[in-house]
Amino acid sequence: MEIIRDIAGIRRFVAAQRQQGKRIGLVPTMGYLHEGHLSLVQVARDRAEIVIMSIFVNPLQFGVNEDLDRYPRDLERDSRLAEAAGVAAIFSPSAEEMYPPGFCTSVEVEKLTEGLCGRSRPGHFRGVTTVVCKLFNCVQPEVAVFGQKDAQQAAIIRKMTSDLNLPVEIIVAPIVREEDGLAMSSRNVYLTAAERQAALVLSRSLQLARQMVARGEREAGRLRQAISEMISSEPAAKIDYVEIVGAADLAPVEQLSSSTLIAVAVRFGTTRLIDNVVVEV
Ligand code: AMP
Repeated sequence: MEIIRDIAGIRRFVAAQRQQGKRIGLVPTMGYLHEGHLSLVQVARDRAEIVIMSIFVNPLQFGVNEDLDRYPRDLERDSRLAEAAGVAAIFSPSAEEMYPPGFCTSVEVEKLTEGLCGRSRPGHFRGVTTVVCKLFNCVQPEVAVFGQKDAQQAAIIRKMTSDLNLPVEIIVAPIVREEDGLAMSSRNVYLTAAERQAALVLSRSLQLARQMVARGEREAGRLRQAISEMISSEPAAKIDYVEIVGAADLAPVEQLSSSTLIAVAVRFGTTRLIDNVVVEV
């Protein structure tokens, strides 16, 4: 497995693979890999002969008071895990390589970025779409795989790709969870033991919502209330949002119909976690 640091290098690598007629799959990440990331590699391998993983902690998508500086990084460990998972090359550029002095262009998807995480993280999704667009241009993959864990991000990237006619197929893979239900996240390492325990309320509250829907509940308000009550019963949890929206357009719904995203963002101490479930009605 190659570790490539510059854009010229990844272009050369991709060109050589293309010459041999290989399909390229891209898995964009910020590293500190866990089984959620590796599941995306597996999905990419099913669709492309060569899987490239990008590892880049993208400064553009962090707000001023967010965790850019303390975001966990371990390229050596990531390399071992990626290689074992069948990644052909890691593309891990520096911030200067991606954003040289004078860089002043951004890609912004409107509407879908307004609610949910967009409300409490202004500018976050502009940073995400800008870097993902750049990664697509550097790697020019046939297929790119993202996780349903970041449901809003996946919907926004689908929209960007379709609105800008980017020639890449977007695949969204299911959320990988710890055995006790906590959605895997690089940020879980921030949690104290007590917060880690408290954080189980996220998946439990979504499970409760799923059960209510299965029993016939269609009122978004009642689902939101049940989720909020369960999360609030955990003293360590501070709700950022509990939202019920259309899975594709992310528009708030009153009555559930078709594919609905139930998404939560909750703080435990200084750590903000997100989780979601999609229910089909
Ligand atoms: P990150 O490194 O957190 O930016 O995540 C990189 C990619 O992995 C994104 O597409 C995420 O949605 C995806 N991802 C992160 N956690 C999980 C998980 N628990 N299950 C599935 N995909 C995940």
